[in-house]
Amino acid sequence: NTADAPSAPGFRYMPETGEEVFSSFLGVPVQRLGEALGVLVVQSKDAREYSADEIYGLEVVAMVLAEMTELGAFVGEGGGMGQRHSQPSMLRGTVAQEGVAEGHIWLHEPRVVVANPIADDPHHELIRLNEAVEELRVGVDKMLTLASADKEQAEVLEAYRMFANSKGWMRRMEEDISRGLSAEAAVEKEQSLARARMGKAGDNYLRERLADLDDLSNRLLRILTGQGQDTGAEMPADPILVARNIGPAELLDYGRSLKGIVLEAGSVGSHAAIVARALAIPLIVHADRATLESLNGDHVLVDGEQGIVHLRPDDTVVSAFRDKMAMQAAAAERYVSIRDKPAKTLCGDVVSLHMNAGLMADLPSLEGSGAEGVGLFRTELQFLVRNKMPKRSELSALYTRVLDAAQGKPVVFRTLDIGSDKVLPYMKPNDEPNPALGWRAIRVGLDKPGVMLMQLQALIRAANGRPLTIMFPFVAQFEEYTDARALMDKAMERERSLGHVLPERVDVGAMLETPSLAFAPQKFFEQVGFLSIGGNDLKQFFFAADRENERVRRRYDSLNVSFLSFLERIVERCDTTQTKLSFCGEDAGRPVEALCLAAIGLRTLSMRPASIGPVKSLLRRSNLTEVRKVIADARHRGEMNVRPAIMEYLKKQG
Ligand code: PEP
Ligand code: MG
Repeated sequence: NTADAPSAPGFRYMPETGEEVFSSFLGVPVQRLGEALGVLVVQSKDAREYSADEIYGLEVVAMVLAEMTELGAFVGEGGGMGQRHSQPSMLRGTVAQEGVAEGHIWLHEPRVVVANPIADDPHHELIRLNEAVEELRVGVDKMLTLASADKEQAEVLEAYRMFANSKGWMRRMEEDISRGLSAEAAVEKEQSLARARMGKAGDNYLRERLADLDDLSNRLLRILTGQGQDTGAEMPADPILVARNIGPAELLDYGRSLKGIVLEAGSVGSHAAIVARALAIPLIVHADRATLESLNGDHVLVDGEQGIVHLRPDDTVVSAFRDKMAMQAAAAERYVSIRDKPAKTLCGDVVSLHMNAGLMADLPSLEGSGAEGVGLFRTELQFLVRNKMPKRSELSALYTRVLDAAQGKPVVFRTLDIGSDKVLPYMKPNDEPNPALGWRAIRVGLDKPGVMLMQLQALIRAANGRPLTIMFPFVAQFEEYTDARALMDKAMERERSLGHVLPERVDVGAMLETPSLAFAPQKFFEQVGFLSIGGNDLKQFFFAADRENERVRRRYDSLNVSFLSFLERIVERCDTTQTKLSFCGEDAGRPVEALCLAAIGLRTLSMRPASIGPVKSLLRRSNLTEVRKVIADARHRGEMNVRPAIMEYLKKQG
């Protein structure tokens, strides 16, 4: 809103467009649910600022326009906007679980359609709004009573109730109605404003509260329009779930019926992503506008390799995509055929392949993938998907199920690795400037040994006489290992005095994920039961590049000569002291990286179950002596990274 547009920055007069010379300018966005569709502008020759009433009037017109666009009211020139849902569309996001899938859209929360943006009888609309808000409040109160035993859930609902009783929210909607909007349109206008603010809010807390308001508006719209969650639509046989975001419990409810998942929000490390990974369902997060662009039943292709979603794809895209799927299916069949065979290379070396796990849903893969055991059981996942601290008895029951499912195959339980990106919803968050370098993992365990002791006791009880393997995360120096080890001895002693059966054998090791540990005194290597390289963290600290930061993460390659040399040094030290060594970071599951790790001497790799087939397949066709020579030659030539040389070699091998 300006009286003097020509002096505004960015102003440019273009006489060739036939535009008139004007002085004042008022522009309001035409937006629907936070998405900008265009701008509605009025101008005048006389220099004046527009009044609040005029701005409001134009906003209402813009809002009605946006609604009509959604309903497909525009044909011809403006039709492009309205026909959005009938055209192919490609969305880009971030891959949180690899895989490709074809299916049909299933909206987790079907969109409420407001068919009557303008109303003739404001009095009637006000009554409708008030009745609906009353129903909403009663509903929220009821949920609160039900949740009162659960403190965390009750806190969230308290925030809901605060919004539902907010006078400002109500007043703004009543004003909109008195100016001619229907009750639904008034709710949606508020929702739209909240969404626009949500996109801009830098503060996490504020964003979450705006998301609460958004959710509340949806509930209110459903009451007003009578469109419940159940729209009568039937879930397609090959559903690809589309949602703004989804919680881990809701995702587990859908289970393996889903072919793929596309989220507008979410993150690679979110709980939903953890569950999707466990269920091996391709997942794309940060797919902007996914819920706006999708309609229930739309044909969709999810490319969880490139991070692309093809909505309503045309025939050429479909056929290229199906070729890709067929190639993957053929490869999958090859992997099944070698499932029970060892990962024995052409030169006779045998590499032991294990899987990483963390949820019960992971365990069926132990059989299906051909893994020799669980090389890394991330115990924190069980803590992360709950909304309160699990009890010792619950944990022990769970670990018992894990050991039962493993049927004698080894399971390496890693004690709680919380902090950094893994924040427990029921623990007071630490406001640390650098959480990845902060109070996390074993540091928390040693400073507050209560939880760690509880977990160790639960593990001993679950073993119930069977062998038990425990690994401490994020050990940075020798003392931390000895202190943690002492806690384990204490837990054993306690269990013994309580009359519980002790494990027949206890193996206690550490993760090597800080560079400092690679330079620990020889005594450490002699004393530690075994070591497992946590390549994800080790790499982040080696290159000083945040593993969660897409911008810097991709800059550094694991096949960089400096990193490989560092890993070789660790292998050598372990060889000297005969310390058992494995590698359990993501790189273990990438065939080319796995091949190089095997070439430099690693004989145990632990990875996502889906990676075992591809890694084994490549190892079985490779000669490590040759790979070692390729690496040595590349180094000799002064190359910084051995990847090009390895790729060249693999290409030659066919
Ligand atoms: C690692 O750091 O490589 C690792 C396996 O642990 P996480 O990814 O759980 O930190
Ligand atoms: Mg780690």
